[in-house]
Amino acid sequence: MATGDLSQTTVDLLAIAAHRDDVEQTCGGTLLVQQSLGWRTGILDLTQGESGTRGTAEDRAREAAEAARILRVSHREALDLPDGNVENTRENRLKIAAVLRRLRPRVVILPYWQGRHPDHYTTATLGYEGCFAACLAKLDLAPEYGAPHRPYKILYASLYADVRPTFVVDIAAHMETRLGSLLAYRSQYGNQQTGSGLFVPEDDIRERTFSTARHYGLLAGVRYAEPFVQREVSLVSDLMMLPVQSI
Ligand SMILES: [Zn+2]
Repeated sequence: MATGDLSQTTVDLLAIAAHRDDVEQTCGGTLLVQQSLGWRTGILDLTQGESGTRGTAEDRAREAAEAARILRVSHREALDLPDGNVENTRENRLKIAAVLRRLRPRVVILPYWQGRHPDHYTTATLGYEGCFAACLAKLDLAPEYGAPHRPYKILYASLYADVRPTFVVDIAAHMETRLGSLLAYRSQYGNQQTGSGLFVPEDDIRERTFSTARHYGLLAGVRYAEPFVQREVSLVSDLMMLPVQSI
C-alpha cells in the first residue's frame, strides 16, 4: 500500500496532500517551524504522480525523498491513489485510517476544501473522513495497523485557495529552506521544454514563493507566513497576550 517509508515510528504532526510537492507549496515552512520547536513531523502524499506532464512516478519519488530531507520531516510515505482521480471511497478512507493509526499524529494538516484542482478539494473531505474512521473502535481494519486513534486538531492549509485564513504561521526564518524543498522537484520546475507552456520556469518560482508568503505575512505584521483555516472557534486565556496589532 505504501511506498517510500522513511521510518515506522509515530509523528506529532502529519500533513496530508494529494500530490507530491503540494505540502512543499502550502505548508512546508510550517513543518520546518514545528520541527525546530522539537516536534516530529511527517507527510502523507495520497498519489505518486504517475499522470504528471513531466517526469515519472519514480522521478517524483526520488524528488519527494530529497524534499523530505530538506524539510527535516521524520517520515514521508505515499499511498497509491490514482493521480488526477482522487475519490472519497470507503477503501481510500481505510487506507488513510491505517496510516493514522500507525503514525498517531496529534495535529493533521489537510488541503482547504475548495479550489481549482478536484484532487485538492477531494483530499480535504477524504482526509477528514479518514481521520474520523481512524478513531472508530469497530472499523474494519486489522489489529496490526494499531489501536484506534483520534487526531486532536485538524487544520486546513489554504494557500491554494482564495480565502481569508483563520491564522497564519510566521515562516520568515525558514524561507530559503522551504524554497529549497520546492526546487528539489527538478522534473517539475527545472527549465526544460516539455510542458513549458504549463509550468512556471524555475526563475519565477523564487519570486512567486516569496511574494505569496509576503502577502500572508503582511496580514499579520510579519515578513513571511503561511495561511491556515480552522473550523473551530479559537480559545483565548489572556487577552494581553493576543498577537497581531489592530491599529
Ligand atoms: Zn497538487
